[in-house]
Formats: sequence, C-alpha cells, structure tokens
Amino acid sequence: ACSDGDEEQVSGAEVIAQALKTQDVEYMFGIVGIPVTEIAVAAQKMGIRYVGMRNEQAACYAASAIGYLTGRPGVCLVVSGPGLIHALGGMANANMNCWPLIVIGGSSERSQETMGAFQEFPQVEACRLYSKFSARPSSIETIPSIIEKAVRSSIYGRPGACYVDIPADFVNLQVNVNSVRYMECCMPPPVSIAETSAICMAATVIRNAKKPLLIIGKGAAYARAEEGIRKLVERCKLPFLPTPMGKGVIPDNHPNCVAAARSRALQFADVIVLFGARLNWILHFGLPPRYQPDVKFIQVDICAEELGNNVKPAVTLLGDINAVTKQLLEQFDKTPWQYPPESSWWKTLREKMKSNEAASKELASQKSLPMNYYTVFYHVQEQLPRDCFVVSEGANTMDIGRTVLQNYLPRHRLDAGTFGTMGVGLGFAIAAALLAKARNTGQRVICVEGDSAFGFSGMEVETICRYNLPIILLVVNNNGIYQGFDVDSWKEMLKFGDATAVAPPVCLLPNSHYEQVMTAFGGKGYFVQTPEELQKSLRESLADTTAPSLINIMIEPQATRKAQDFHWLTRSKV
Ligand code: ADP
Ligand code: MG
Repeated sequence: ACSDGDEEQVSGAEVIAQALKTQDVEYMFGIVGIPVTEIAVAAQKMGIRYVGMRNEQAACYAASAIGYLTGRPGVCLVVSGPGLIHALGGMANANMNCWPLIVIGGSSERSQETMGAFQEFPQVEACRLYSKFSARPSSIETIPSIIEKAVRSSIYGRPGACYVDIPADFVNLQVNVNSVRYMECCMPPPVSIAETSAICMAATVIRNAKKPLLIIGKGAAYARAEEGIRKLVERCKLPFLPTPMGKGVIPDNHPNCVAAARSRALQFADVIVLFGARLNWILHFGLPPRYQPDVKFIQVDICAEELGNNVKPAVTLLGDINAVTKQLLEQFDKTPWQYPPESSWWKTLREKMKSNEAASKELASQKSLPMNYYTVFYHVQEQLPRDCFVVSEGANTMDIGRTVLQNYLPRHRLDAGTFGTMGVGLGFAIAAALLAKARNTGQRVICVEGDSAFGFSGMEVETICRYNLPIILLVVNNNGIYQGFDVDSWKEMLKFGDATAVAPPVCLLPNSHYEQVMTAFGGKGYFVQTPEELQKSLRESLADTTAPSLINIMIEPQATRKAQDFHWLTRSKV
C-alpha cells in the first residue's frame, strides 16, 4: 500500500493477496508473467508461500494436492490465454477427484476486450466445464467477496475447483484502502448427518449380511474419517477394501484388509458399504459380472446427486462420512454386533489373499535381468519408511506398485486418480514435500513414476532442486508406454525405415538416462540395473535427508502384470 496525499492507496494485486491471506490460503503455485507477476510478489509479502513451477499444469496439480492433503485450497496463479489453458488440465483433474482448488488467472485488459488483445480468451466461460464456480470480479472492491466465495465453494458440499479471473488493468490499479472490505475467513464446511431412519436401516442390512464388505474411498480420506471407520471395522469385525487413494485410511497391513483379494471380494459380496467412493470405472460401475446382480449397496456420500448412480442402492446415507460413521457406531453401540470371524466368506477371502500374495512373491523372487515390476517393488517396499508419502503414476508402474507398496497413514498416497491423469506425479510430490517440510515431520516423499509418466512434467525436477525438496524419484523404465523395446531391437527396427514409419507408437528411446535430468540441477542421479544397485541407491537416497535424488530403474521392456481374472481396461496389445 502506498500513500497518495491523505488517502492511503492499495493496488489490485495487494487486495488479491490480502483477500487470499484472510481466507487462510497458505500456498500459491504458478508461473509469473504479464499480468500476474505483481500478484505473486504481493502474496509472498503477505506471507503466502510462492512456488514457481515450470508448467501451469504441474502448478495446478501441486495446488490441488495441497487442497486434498490439508482441506484448505491451494492457489494456482497463471497468466492469460495459454497460461490459463495449460492450467485447465489441473482444474479438470482436481474437479474429477473432488479436491478443493483455487485458480487465479490474469486476463487481458477490459478496455481491449473483443479487439484481439494480447492472449485474449473467454477464460471465465472456458473454466465453467472444469470448475464449480467461475467468475470475474466487477471491480477491485468486489475482489474479497469473490475470493471468499471461491474458497467457500471449493470446500463446501462436494469439494472442487473454482476460478477467479483478474483483468490485467486490475493488477496495478490503485484504490482507496478504505473502500475495500475484507470478508472474514469462511467457516469450515457445515457438517451434515444422515437421517436416523436410514442409519437404522443401514445397520439392519449390515447385520443381515452373509458376505459384507466395506469400501473405503478417497472421500473418506479427505473427510478425515480414519478414526471412526477403523472403530467400525474393528468393532463389527468387517472386511474392508481401500480404493487406490483410500489406501492408508486404515493401514494396509490391518488383518481385515482384503486388498489382496480385491476382485473376489467385489464379485461375491452381498452387502457393500461405500464410504466416499463412487461407482465409476475404478469400481467397475457396481455392475455384474464384477459384482453379484443382487448385491445391496449402502452409499455414504456428501453429494446427493451421487446417490443411485449406476445402481439402485439399498440404503443411502447422505452426509459427512465422519459424522455418518459416528452415527453408525452409536447404532452398533446400542445393539452390539459382530460379523462371525469363522464364516466361509472370511475363509474364501483369506485363501484368495494367500494365493495372490504367493503369486506376486513368486514373480518378485525371479532372478533374471532386466528386473520385472514385482522384483523392483518388493525391494522398494522393504526400505520404505512407514510414514512416507507415496506418489505414483504410470500404467503398469502404478497398477502393480499399488499392490506391493504399503500405506500406513491416511492421505499419504497420491496417484493418477479418478481422471487417470498422467503428469501429476511431480506436482503432487512437490506439494507433499512442502507440507512435510513446513510441519517439520521429516517425512519423505517417494515418487514412483513410469518413464512415460515422468516425461509429462519432467522439468519440474528443476523446481524440486530449486526449493531443495528431498524427494526421491523412482523412474521405472521399460523404454515405453505399457511396453517398450531393448536397444538391440530398437536398432534392428530402424534398419527397416525411419522411426516415424516403423517404431510402434508405444516406444520411447531405449536406455534413456533420466537420472541425468536430476544431476543437471545438482541432485543425485542413479542408473540401476540389478536388485543390488537398486537397494544401494535407495538406501543412500533415504539416508540423505537434505537433497533430492532420481533412481532410473531399468526393467524388462516387455514386463507386464501377472494374469488377472478380469481385464482392468481393454488395451490393444503391441
Ligand atoms: P475413489 O476414487 O477413492 O473411489 P471417489 O473420488 O470416486 O473416490 O469418491 C469420493 C466421494 O467422496 C465423492 O463422491 C465425494 O462426493 C465424496 N466426499 C468427499 N468428501 C466427503 C465428505 N466429507 N463426506 C462424505 N462424502 C464425501
Ligand atoms: Mg514405461
């Protein structure tokens, strides 16, 4: 703020920063340029952490991870036109995941609207498809209320992305400081509970189940319902299955976790309670043949429109998962009940878990080189600290990694999510590492990337090194997308023509030294081909708590998953 005669003046940029600070925003990720540089500077002066990234997409992923991990949105700050368009990927991903996020986009000067201004684009309209709320303040004075509304909308009801458009001419415009009123920080979301009659009905359906199953989704993780859900599982002795990001709400090594018998559990359960998990592709829509035709679903969700999607639920519990879980616990307190531990259902599940675990161990113990996925992940799992964040993306890398890498804490797994987005890993890892640093927990972030997935946001390694975040990047390198080729086959192939004509579209350059992307910026890089090299480099990386590292792990280019009962997606074979 500067003084002009008697009237103290404040710029649009300063008003934005103050409004964000008032709403408890702690982190801003972005890329500066015309017209938003001053906003980043003002935010930093206000005590908001500013993290400069290398692509708006990754900046947006990072900001959305802050929202998921803390329950308060992070901000992604982008320039007009192309900057905003790059951020749409991150907004879409956040919205699909139901994660809170605020995007602030600079836009061209109002006086030049429709004239072909620099980077002019209909940004408010463009963001509508990717957000819950998209608006442009009509004046500097209305900025605080629009920002309050954006923050509130991002966390109330089903969380999601919100967009605020800032015309270039607002940024440096000065107004009288007394003309701006800042809204108070919006209250935490109001907590809604389910109808008592629905709770009674749900308890009755659960009590009468022959083959019950709880499914724990990332909605339960977001709702911080870990304590209640764990009590429910242990009091009623129920089997549970986490979704990919529901992992860790209850530790993966809990005796009631049936993740290793996932397909079997889904296929034969007669009652399924969904805690914050949609019946979308991840859960095979809740339909046969993956489920019994007459399975009774009990849906717990904060979003009424979600209830009844793809199936006709037996009971719907509309409300906050944490609160609804407490209601269910009270019901079972009144009339205690336990699912019999000696049931044939438990026997079926346990047997299947045993045989699936044995099959993975068998693959992991193979001594042939290059290594397969299972060998790699078993060695990684052996050394992973219990409290670490696991970030993961890639096709096989993520799918197989999820079955081997364990989570013991809620909200400590971040992956491609509902939208199946590739390129999220480094942004997510940066957000998690910043939080670990700020909270001084000493927790590590392990980012497990396929070689293709790594490529989408690879230049964020510079960001990681600039902020000196001790992230460990593992690039599980099969020279391609799904599958690749070894160097000799690649060279042989090129004898028959130019790569554009003869190389299968899944190919990436064999033996790429991705670790040198890390050494280029001063971090540690390792190129590993054997289990011993992998163990050693991971041990060294974990021991160094101050610097980032990248371990480029060469695996068999044609390695795949073990045989599945069902195909996850129909993929064309190479
Ligand atoms: P997953 O990918 O783990 O299956 P989804 O993203 O499909 O999970 O589902 C998460 C669900 O959780 C969404 O339908 C969302 O509306 C819901 N949800 C988010 N927060 C809460 C909350 N506090 N209480 C209840 N439901 C919630
Ligand atoms: Mg690959």
